[in-house]
Amino acid sequence: MISRDPLDALDREDSLAGFRDQFELPENIVYLDGNSLGPMPRRTLARMIDVVREEWGQTLIRSWNEHDWISMPQRVGDGIAKVVGAAEGEVIAADSTSINLFKLLAAACRMRPDRRVILTEAGNFPTDIYIAEGLISLLGDGYELRAVEKAEIQSAIDDSVAVAVLTHVDYRTGEMLDMAAVTRTAHDVGALMLWDLSHSAGAVPVALAAADADFAVGCGYKYLNGGPGAPAFLFVAKRIQAAARQPLSGWMGHAAPFEFEPGYRPADGILRHLCGTPPIIAMAALEEGVTLFLEAEMEEIRRKSVLLSECFIALVEQECDGHGFELASPRDAARRGSQASFRHRNGYAIMQALIARGVIGDFRTPDILRFGFAPLYVSFADVWRAVAMLKEVMITAAVT
Ligand SMILES: *Cc1c(COP(=O)(O)O)cnc(C)c1O
Repeated sequence: MISRDPLDALDREDSLAGFRDQFELPENIVYLDGNSLGPMPRRTLARMIDVVREEWGQTLIRSWNEHDWISMPQRVGDGIAKVVGAAEGEVIAADSTSINLFKLLAAACRMRPDRRVILTEAGNFPTDIYIAEGLISLLGDGYELRAVEKAEIQSAIDDSVAVAVLTHVDYRTGEMLDMAAVTRTAHDVGALMLWDLSHSAGAVPVALAAADADFAVGCGYKYLNGGPGAPAFLFVAKRIQAAARQPLSGWMGHAAPFEFEPGYRPADGILRHLCGTPPIIAMAALEEGVTLFLEAEMEEIRRKSVLLSECFIALVEQECDGHGFELASPRDAARRGSQASFRHRNGYAIMQALIARGVIGDFRTPDILRFGFAPLYVSFADVWRAVAMLKEVMITAAVT
């Protein structure tokens, strides 16, 4: 039986508790949707005023040098590299996750010209599948998408696969794949491995280098709190950077963008994965999210994330027993990201009623209620309140 007191004790002992004040969060809201859109760090507002009023307004074009706008994609990328276990020069902030998927899938296919299969999971996030479909229709020439169930991933990666593109933490259930093991399977048959870290970066410890990953992409506006539509990021391992060429050969990825040469020559290293001019204002907002994040210890974040979701799951099962909820996330915390999901046949209506009571999670078809636990600003009192509201909805609202 879980009661309120031990949760209050967990809040008092929480070494990350001070971070909550760093975010602009409305009173009376329990925000469990940072996995869709992270809240605004307070420092971001000040930075926005500065970058717009001073850097753009007063310094104008000179800011590319004076305020070092030109190196922001690398600088922010190097910050994100620390979050995902990569080295300096292996990550760059650019474009959207979808566009980065396109660039890296295309680069991977070029590196395995005698193979025609892009492997993915049937339940992958739709954009990952849509982008692979678009690339395949462009490549023609016998290319195909092989979309398999989670349980079949390991056995479906064979020597016809050019690249496997998989999401590390499932957006619906929060189930986390074994990055090192799957990457090893891909490498054993000569395939390349591309990880989508949208629900991992800033949520769970990620060790791209230790897992020997080839490529990765991820989101800036979820757990990194970079703001709506923030630039995404991409990772290319150093050992394959010279061989990896992406097809969106815009001038910012040129070896000498300001020489205005007639032909394209890719820049060395990670820079060739840029395409056009970076969105400086959005990049500045992302930089604030990333630098704030880096002030916390990832081990502390993971420890609290596991505790929050364990408490939430136990409380839902205790307080809402008999109301038709079924845990959709793995019960083993080691196989779960930083979210907990429950199935309910009235999931949509229940989530609407919860949101009306100030507990913001989200609903994913067909029947999943999804609750994200971002340890920098979610407290154990929030967990208590969320479950109390869920119970109230089940008892009082006509949603059973
Ligand atoms: C959120 C998310 C995306 C988002 O892609 P955008 O191009 O930034 O809209 C991609 N992949 C996964 C797995 C996601 O969860």
